[in-house]
Amino acid sequence: MRDLAAELDERRARGLYRSRRILEGVQKPVQVVDGRKVVAFCSNDYLGLAGHAKVVAAFRHAVGTYGVGAGAAHLVNGHTRAHHQLEEELAAFTNRERALLFSTGYMANMGVAQALAGRGDHVLEDRLNHASLIDAGLVCGARFQRYRHATGVDLAQRLATLEATGERLVLTDGVFSMDGDLAPLPELSRIAAAHHAWLMVDDAHGLGVLGATGAGSLEHFGLDAGEVPILMGTLGKAFGTAGAFVAGSEALIETLIQSARTYVYTTAMPAALAEATRASLQIVRTDGRRREKLAALVARFREGAGQIGLRLMESPTPIQPVLVGDSARAVRMSEHLLEQGMLVPAIRPPTVPEGTARLRVTLSAAHTKPQVDRLLEALEAAQGAEAPA
Ligand SMILES: *Cc1c(COP(=O)(O)O)cnc(C)c1O
Repeated sequence: MRDLAAELDERRARGLYRSRRILEGVQKPVQVVDGRKVVAFCSNDYLGLAGHAKVVAAFRHAVGTYGVGAGAAHLVNGHTRAHHQLEEELAAFTNRERALLFSTGYMANMGVAQALAGRGDHVLEDRLNHASLIDAGLVCGARFQRYRHATGVDLAQRLATLEATGERLVLTDGVFSMDGDLAPLPELSRIAAAHHAWLMVDDAHGLGVLGATGAGSLEHFGLDAGEVPILMGTLGKAFGTAGAFVAGSEALIETLIQSARTYVYTTAMPAALAEATRASLQIVRTDGRRREKLAALVARFREGAGQIGLRLMESPTPIQPVLVGDSARAVRMSEHLLEQGMLVPAIRPPTVPEGTARLRVTLSAAHTKPQVDRLLEALEAAQGAEAPA
């Protein structure tokens, strides 16, 4: 039997130990974690909808109508009117024939890969894809390879050398979760089409944030369902609720309903959550000011960070990592920020490649300009405290 305690001690000694903080109350910029009042720059609640009055009210009201638990899987009798309406609205929002709800994004990714690919097939993924996409590719039983980050030529070369038989599934994040950059989707879509491969985009961090109506990376690039046949979106980020969906053709969605195991063999999300998400979708679609404010905060942060010599990444999104390099140094800087009342996590290997530890700043439309300015001051102080004497 493994000596778990010893393994944990060793992990601690290497500075890789992970632990939770306890948050009191609503996910919003000013919050209390571990008994300390902080300004948080780490949530994925990009539009400030997790505690929005209309979303909360829709949830409360729907609990009165539907109760709490769905009580069964979608294919048994857990699929309510609320779920069905949300699916129709998500399909319209993403300009696709159908959409299908999953209980989490992780399960949506696993379900699609398993339903479409298996032994004798091929899955190709961007090296920096989210862990849930990587796991989906590894677990589905297909041959698995990773191509160089956001590099179409590498993908094209790999596709060209595959034997003619079997399905080909190309999986990519729309916005990369640890770097904040965008996948080169127009190029990937051309390459996938030329090689008769499915292209699936996981737009967890693009939906709600990018595009004129918040429809995400595909709207940003002007790509339609013909160019990107499979779109996955999560509801726990910009939508401020929980769960996920896959959008695509009628045949794709029916195939998932028949055979995606993470769809078939799990309890439907609570109907009230679907109703709350309908309320948040309405805000996402119609309240462009939230996206404008978010873009203004991103611009302000990048400009200020440049002035104090921080190393940013090529990110046009609310994910604005500050590159530090050394893990221990990133952790010390994160602790220094916390002492100044700023909650910014240090992200270390194996979540990011060796030698690229970073402070992962995320911004939300719920932040204020003065809060962003205070973060910049705190980052400057944390950087100063680390400078060689
Ligand atoms: C958060 C995230 C997921 C997982 O979604 P959950 O609903 O939290 O399980 C999948 N893909 C990406 C890119 C993500 O950032």
